[in-house]
Amino acid sequence: MKVQSADFINRSAKAIGDEQLQRALGNVRKGFIGKRAKAAAALPEFEAIRDEAVGIKNHVLNHLDVYLERFEANVKAAGGHVHWARDDAEARAIILELCRKENARTVTKGKSMLTEEIELNAHLEAHGIETVETDLGEYIIQLRGESPSHIIAPAVHLNRDQVEADFRRVHSHLAEERALETPESLLGEAREVLRRRYFDADVGITGANFLVAETGSSVIVTNEGNGDLTQTLPRVHIALASIEKIVPTMEDLSTILRLLARSATGQEMSVYTTISTGPRRADDQDGPEEYHIVLLDNGRSALLGTEFQEVLRCIRCGACMNHCPVFHAVGGHAYGAVYPGPIGAVITPALAGIEKAGHLPNASTFCGRCESVCPMRIPLPKLMRRWRDKEYEKGLQPATMRRGISLWAFAAQHPRVYRFGTKYAAALLSRLGGARRRIARLPFASGWTGARDLPAPEGQTFMQAYAAAKKADRS
Ligand code: SF4
Repeated sequence: MKVQSADFINRSAKAIGDEQLQRALGNVRKGFIGKRAKAAAALPEFEAIRDEAVGIKNHVLNHLDVYLERFEANVKAAGGHVHWARDDAEARAIILELCRKENARTVTKGKSMLTEEIELNAHLEAHGIETVETDLGEYIIQLRGESPSHIIAPAVHLNRDQVEADFRRVHSHLAEERALETPESLLGEAREVLRRRYFDADVGITGANFLVAETGSSVIVTNEGNGDLTQTLPRVHIALASIEKIVPTMEDLSTILRLLARSATGQEMSVYTTISTGPRRADDQDGPEEYHIVLLDNGRSALLGTEFQEVLRCIRCGACMNHCPVFHAVGGHAYGAVYPGPIGAVITPALAGIEKAGHLPNASTFCGRCESVCPMRIPLPKLMRRWRDKEYEKGLQPATMRRGISLWAFAAQHPRVYRFGTKYAAALLSRLGGARRRIARLPFASGWTGARDLPAPEGQTFMQAYAAAKKADRS
């Protein structure tokens, strides 16, 4: 997994100064939040379903081996094949081998963050296999050579004009004077171009939102139907899924599905929910002749039984990033990782190491909105805090920050020192604030004062004011 999170600060600064991106991010702020709130309010048992879903996933994670084996047995019983991949290299090799067996020249793909995680497209392309993204957002960013900036809305950072320009550049076989000013015309053109590609494809690759142990089924949820065409038209369907996507039964699946679309887009259900069990049977009208599931670990099993296990409950709804003020400010690309936003801030260090992703758990105001809307009640701020602890324990922060934290910790453990220090610091800062009561520049706080003034304290600490009030009460 490619991680460029070490550059988070530079990328964020660039993103904040990008006017077009800032306008596009307004759609995240305006659109998703209200829709989710309305959908949740319209379902009285929403909170109870959240609790139930958390229980289901906790149970699965505590017995993951049992359910994975059950899933494998049922895939085989339905005529499918299961492949186990320890890491991204193994997953890429397995998929390439399956494509080669089929002599595949073109592969269609339904949206899958996991294929982004293992950088599958580049691998297949390097071996002469053309990959065609079929989700509209993914298709657009593929034309631009970009990565998704959001897990459910990959092209949310773009505007209509940019998409039109890309379509005119790439679809050069179409009439130049065609009208492309409306979203409908763009959609129509993408549909027209992609339709032919579905029939060209030798292999269809999708992700899986869920895997159902009792039936050996993979489940995909889309709004465009592209996943269905990807997996039913080619002769071979390969579904790539990470091991924690398991749910025990269809009943459990239906419980969690009631949360997914409501949390993601505010829909009651996504337009298409497709459950695939094995290859086509003799009396099926369509479907692939071969059905393969690639089960990827890539560091997830190492989280089981640890303080980070809870993150494996994630159903990739995107609600946490839709509500995150940091994501609203910088967008998904600034995170420099496959999974942006609060979930990315927790899972990226887990998968790639805190050494590479240390900025991300620090890119949070700890406002707690992510946790409050997470359908799976993942305590994202708590987990980010744990990553900060780990960063400190490993000595990864700059020496000045470490010294500052140590000094603070010492003072916090010694009330007299703390009171003495804060009393003189407050008085000094108050004087520095002058008549404006604001400090424009302060050594050791340039991260704050580089972008805005620091409000000066009134002059007294809380403890001083409290003691003075008590004294006044007594007299
Ligand atoms: S952490 Fe929660 S809110 Fe964020 S994507 Fe996962 S399930 Fe959705």
